[in-house]
Amino acid sequence: LVSRKRKNEDTIIDIKGEKIGDGQPHFVCGPCAVESYEQVKKVAEQIKKHGLNMIRGGAFKPRTSPYDFQGLGFEGLEILRRIGDEFDLAVVSEIVRPQDMEQAAEYLDMIQIGARNMQNFELLKAAGEVDKPIILKRGMSATVSDFINAAEYIHSKGNGNIILCERGIRTYETSTRNTLDITAVPILKQETHLPVMVDVTHSTGRRDLLIPAAKAAIAIGADAIMAEVHPDPAVALSDQQQQMNFEQFDAFMEAVRK
Ligand code: PEP
Ligand code: MN
Repeated sequence: LVSRKRKNEDTIIDIKGEKIGDGQPHFVCGPCAVESYEQVKKVAEQIKKHGLNMIRGGAFKPRTSPYDFQGLGFEGLEILRRIGDEFDLAVVSEIVRPQDMEQAAEYLDMIQIGARNMQNFELLKAAGEVDKPIILKRGMSATVSDFINAAEYIHSKGNGNIILCERGIRTYETSTRNTLDITAVPILKQETHLPVMVDVTHSTGRRDLLIPAAKAAIAIGADAIMAEVHPDPAVALSDQQQQMNFEQFDAFMEAVRK
Protein backbone atom coordinates (compact mmCIF):
# COMPACT_ATOMS: atom_id res chain seq x y z
CA LEU A 1 0.00 0.00 0.00
CA VAL A 2 2.82 2.43 0.71
CA SER A 3 4.71 1.48 -2.46
CA ARG A 4 5.10 3.85 -5.37
CA LYS A 5 4.40 0.92 -7.66
CA ARG A 6 0.90 0.90 -6.27
CA LYS A 7 0.33 4.68 -6.23
CA ASN A 8 2.67 7.07 -7.99
CA GLU A 9 1.10 10.27 -6.70
CA ASP A 10 2.80 11.76 -3.61
CA THR A 11 0.82 11.57 -0.37
CA ILE A 12 0.40 15.05 1.05
CA ILE A 13 -0.49 15.36 4.72
CA ASP A 14 -2.59 18.38 5.49
CA ILE A 15 -2.25 19.48 9.07
CA LYS A 16 -3.38 22.95 10.11
CA GLY A 17 -2.70 24.35 6.67
CA GLU A 18 0.75 22.76 6.45
CA LYS A 19 0.85 20.46 3.47
CA ILE A 20 3.65 18.05 4.27
CA GLY A 21 4.84 16.52 1.01
CA ASP A 22 4.06 19.57 -1.16
CA GLY A 23 7.70 20.16 -2.08
CA GLN A 24 8.28 22.88 0.54
CA PRO A 25 10.17 22.15 3.77
CA HIS A 26 8.08 21.96 6.96
CA PHE A 27 9.30 22.04 10.55
CA VAL A 28 8.25 20.13 13.64
CA CYS A 29 10.10 21.69 16.58
CA GLY A 30 9.64 21.69 20.31
CA PRO A 31 11.11 20.33 23.51
CA CYS A 32 12.27 16.76 23.93
CA ALA A 33 9.83 16.36 26.82
CA VAL A 34 6.82 18.28 28.09
CA GLU A 35 7.98 19.40 31.53
CA SER A 36 5.36 22.04 32.44
CA TYR A 37 2.76 24.33 30.90
CA GLU A 38 5.09 27.32 31.30
CA GLN A 39 7.98 25.53 29.59
CA VAL A 40 5.93 24.51 26.55
CA LYS A 41 4.33 27.97 26.38
CA LYS A 42 7.75 29.62 26.09
CA VAL A 43 8.65 27.30 23.22
CA ALA A 44 5.26 27.86 21.54
CA GLU A 45 5.90 31.62 21.51
CA GLN A 46 9.19 31.07 19.67
CA ILE A 47 7.56 28.67 17.21
CA LYS A 48 4.87 31.23 16.40
CA LYS A 49 7.53 33.92 16.05
CA HIS A 50 9.07 31.88 13.25
CA GLY A 51 5.71 31.43 11.55
CA LEU A 52 5.60 27.69 12.19
CA ASN A 53 2.34 25.78 12.76
CA MET A 54 3.41 22.65 14.63
CA ILE A 55 4.93 21.85 18.01
CA ARG A 56 6.27 18.61 19.40
CA GLY A 57 6.87 17.46 22.99
CA GLY A 58 7.21 14.03 24.56
CA ALA A 59 4.78 12.99 27.30
CA PHE A 60 5.60 9.28 27.29
CA LYS A 61 9.39 9.16 27.11
CA PRO A 62 11.03 5.85 26.20
CA ARG A 63 14.21 6.36 28.22
CA THR A 64 17.20 4.05 28.12
CA SER A 65 17.40 4.03 31.91
CA PRO A 66 14.32 3.40 34.09
CA TYR A 67 15.68 5.98 36.56
CA ASP A 68 15.55 8.83 34.04
CA PHE A 69 12.54 11.17 33.68
CA GLN A 70 9.74 9.14 32.10
CA GLY A 71 7.47 11.99 31.06
CA LEU A 72 4.21 13.44 32.40
CA GLY A 73 1.96 10.98 30.56
CA PHE A 74 -1.60 12.14 29.91
CA GLU A 75 -1.00 15.29 31.96
CA GLY A 76 1.63 16.15 29.33
CA LEU A 77 -0.85 15.56 26.52
CA GLU A 78 -3.31 17.88 28.28
CA ILE A 79 -0.66 20.59 28.43
CA LEU A 80 0.08 20.15 24.73
CA ARG A 81 -3.62 20.36 23.80
CA ARG A 82 -4.05 23.52 25.83
CA ILE A 83 -1.02 25.08 24.12
CA GLY A 84 -2.29 23.90 20.73
CA ASP A 85 -5.63 25.60 21.29
CA GLU A 86 -4.21 28.80 22.78
CA PHE A 87 -1.56 29.26 20.07
CA ASP A 88 -3.38 27.64 17.15
CA LEU A 89 -0.63 25.05 16.73
CA ALA A 90 -0.85 21.43 15.68
CA VAL A 91 0.54 19.25 18.47
CA VAL A 92 2.61 16.11 18.09
CA SER A 93 3.63 13.57 20.73
CA GLU A 94 4.83 10.00 20.99
CA ILE A 95 2.49 7.22 22.12
CA VAL A 96 4.00 3.98 23.40
CA ARG A 97 1.05 1.70 24.24
CA PRO A 98 -1.60 0.42 21.82
CA GLN A 99 -4.35 0.90 24.41
CA ASP A 100 -3.53 4.63 24.68
CA MET A 101 -3.88 5.34 20.95
CA GLU A 102 -7.57 6.16 20.89
CA GLN A 103 -7.50 8.42 23.94
CA ALA A 104 -4.32 10.12 22.72
CA ALA A 105 -6.00 10.94 19.43
CA GLU A 106 -8.39 13.18 21.38
CA TYR A 107 -5.47 15.40 22.43
CA LEU A 108 -3.10 15.25 19.49
CA ASP A 109 -3.14 16.38 15.87
CA MET A 110 -0.38 13.97 14.90
CA ILE A 111 0.90 10.87 16.72
CA GLN A 112 4.52 9.80 16.80
CA ILE A 113 5.79 6.24 16.99
CA GLY A 114 9.34 6.29 18.29
CA ALA A 115 12.42 4.50 17.02
CA ARG A 116 12.30 1.96 19.83
CA ASN A 117 8.79 0.97 18.88
CA MET A 118 9.13 0.82 15.10
CA GLN A 119 8.56 -2.92 15.17
CA ASN A 120 6.00 -2.96 17.97
CA PHE A 121 3.45 -4.43 15.61
CA GLU A 122 0.50 -4.15 17.96
CA LEU A 123 1.25 -0.45 18.37
CA LEU A 124 1.55 -0.05 14.58
CA LYS A 125 -1.82 -1.74 14.09
CA ALA A 126 -3.40 0.52 16.71
CA ALA A 127 -1.92 3.55 14.89
CA GLY A 128 -3.53 2.25 11.73
CA GLU A 129 -6.92 2.48 13.38
CA VAL A 130 -6.83 6.13 14.46
CA ASP A 131 -7.87 9.02 12.29
CA LYS A 132 -4.70 11.09 12.82
CA PRO A 133 -1.50 11.36 10.80
CA ILE A 134 1.38 9.28 12.15
CA ILE A 135 5.06 10.16 12.28
CA LEU A 136 6.82 6.81 12.14
CA LYS A 137 10.45 6.93 13.20
CA ARG A 138 13.01 4.53 11.83
CA GLY A 139 14.24 1.97 14.33
CA MET A 140 17.88 2.44 15.23
CA SER A 141 18.76 -0.99 13.81
CA ALA A 142 16.13 -1.14 11.07
CA THR A 143 16.93 -1.45 7.39
CA VAL A 144 15.02 0.67 4.92
CA SER A 145 13.02 -2.43 4.05
CA ASP A 146 12.11 -3.05 7.73
CA PHE A 147 11.08 0.60 7.94
CA ILE A 148 8.82 0.41 4.89
CA ASN A 149 7.24 -2.77 6.24
CA ALA A 150 6.49 -1.03 9.51
CA ALA A 151 4.68 1.74 7.58
CA GLU A 152 2.83 -0.97 5.68
CA TYR A 153 1.49 -2.31 9.01
CA ILE A 154 -0.07 1.08 9.75
CA HIS A 155 -1.47 1.51 6.24
CA SER A 156 -2.85 -2.04 6.20
CA LYS A 157 -5.20 -1.09 9.04
CA GLY A 158 -6.59 1.85 7.11
CA ASN A 159 -4.43 4.87 8.01
CA GLY A 160 -2.38 6.01 5.02
CA ASN A 161 -1.38 9.37 6.51
CA ILE A 162 2.15 8.42 7.49
CA ILE A 163 5.33 10.49 7.57
CA LEU A 164 8.53 8.43 7.53
CA CYS A 165 11.16 9.92 9.85
CA GLU A 166 14.84 9.12 9.43
CA ARG A 167 16.45 9.69 12.85
CA GLY A 168 19.82 8.03 12.50
CA ILE A 169 20.89 4.43 12.88
CA ARG A 170 23.41 2.61 15.06
CA THR A 171 26.77 2.09 13.43
CA TYR A 172 30.34 1.72 14.67
CA GLU A 173 30.80 5.50 14.38
CA THR A 174 30.91 7.30 17.71
CA SER A 175 31.41 10.92 16.63
CA THR A 176 27.65 11.39 16.42
CA ARG A 177 24.92 9.89 18.64
CA ASN A 178 23.56 7.94 15.67
CA THR A 179 24.60 7.92 12.02
CA LEU A 180 22.23 9.99 9.89
CA ASP A 181 21.46 7.81 6.88
CA ILE A 182 20.95 10.71 4.51
CA THR A 183 20.48 8.62 1.37
CA ALA A 184 17.55 6.85 3.04
CA VAL A 185 15.61 10.03 2.18
CA PRO A 186 15.68 9.68 -1.64
CA ILE A 187 15.39 5.90 -1.37
CA LEU A 188 12.21 6.23 0.73
CA LYS A 189 10.89 8.86 -1.69
CA GLN A 190 11.56 6.55 -4.64
CA GLU A 191 10.13 3.45 -3.06
CA THR A 192 7.09 4.94 -1.33
CA HIS A 193 4.68 7.81 -1.97
CA LEU A 194 4.92 8.97 1.67
CA PRO A 195 6.48 12.23 2.90
CA VAL A 196 9.89 11.91 4.53
CA MET A 197 11.13 13.79 7.59
CA VAL A 198 14.64 14.04 9.03
CA ASP A 199 15.15 14.39 12.78
CA VAL A 200 18.40 16.31 13.04
CA THR A 201 18.44 16.28 16.84
CA HIS A 202 18.34 12.56 17.62
CA SER A 203 20.40 11.56 14.58
CA THR A 204 23.37 13.81 15.25
CA GLY A 205 23.01 14.32 19.00
CA ARG A 206 25.15 17.40 18.43
CA ARG A 207 24.03 21.01 18.43
CA ASP A 208 26.89 22.04 16.14
CA LEU A 209 25.61 19.70 13.42
CA LEU A 210 21.95 20.69 13.39
CA ILE A 211 22.24 23.36 10.70
CA PRO A 212 24.39 21.41 8.21
CA ALA A 213 22.31 18.25 8.76
CA ALA A 214 19.04 20.14 8.14
CA LYS A 215 20.47 21.80 5.02
CA ALA A 216 21.62 18.42 3.71
CA ALA A 217 18.23 16.87 4.46
CA ILE A 218 16.37 19.56 2.52
CA ALA A 219 18.89 19.44 -0.33
CA ILE A 220 18.42 15.70 -0.69
CA GLY A 221 14.63 15.95 -0.76
CA ALA A 222 13.27 15.76 2.79
CA ASP A 223 9.74 17.12 3.19
CA ALA A 224 10.13 18.04 6.83
CA ILE A 225 12.68 18.58 9.58
CA MET A 226 12.33 17.71 13.25
CA ALA A 227 14.46 19.51 15.83
CA GLU A 228 14.33 20.01 19.59
CA VAL A 229 14.16 23.41 21.28
CA HIS A 230 14.07 24.11 25.02
CA PRO A 231 13.96 27.40 27.00
CA ASP A 232 17.03 26.32 29.00
CA PRO A 233 18.62 23.10 27.72
CA ALA A 234 21.10 22.95 30.60
CA VAL A 235 18.26 22.16 33.02
CA ALA A 236 16.17 20.04 30.61
CA LEU A 237 14.91 16.76 32.05
CA SER A 238 16.09 14.90 28.91
CA ASP A 239 18.46 15.44 25.98
CA GLN A 240 20.38 18.35 27.55
CA GLN A 241 23.25 17.89 25.11
CA GLN A 242 21.40 18.54 21.90
CA GLN A 243 18.35 20.74 22.41
CA MET A 244 18.68 24.27 21.08
CA ASN A 245 18.10 27.35 23.21
CA PHE A 246 16.06 30.18 21.67
CA GLU A 247 19.04 32.07 20.30
CA GLN A 248 20.30 28.90 18.61
CA PHE A 249 16.79 28.24 17.30
CA ASP A 250 16.72 31.71 15.71
CA ALA A 251 20.05 31.04 14.02
CA PHE A 252 18.89 27.58 12.94
CA MET A 253 15.68 28.81 11.32
CA GLU A 254 17.48 31.66 9.60
CA ALA A 255 20.26 29.46 8.23
CA VAL A 256 18.02 26.62 7.13
CA ARG A 257 15.40 28.86 5.49
CA LYS A 258 18.11 30.52 3.42
C1 PEP B 1 11.73 11.73 20.29
O1 PEP B 1 11.53 12.21 19.15
O2 PEP B 1 11.33 12.29 21.31
C2 PEP B 1 12.48 10.47 20.41
C3 PEP B 1 12.54 9.82 21.56
O3 PEP B 1 13.08 10.07 19.27
P1 PEP B 1 13.53 8.60 18.80
O4 PEP B 1 12.34 7.71 18.98
O5 PEP B 1 13.87 8.84 17.35
O6 PEP B 1 14.71 8.22 19.63
MN1 MN C 1 14.87 14.03 22.65
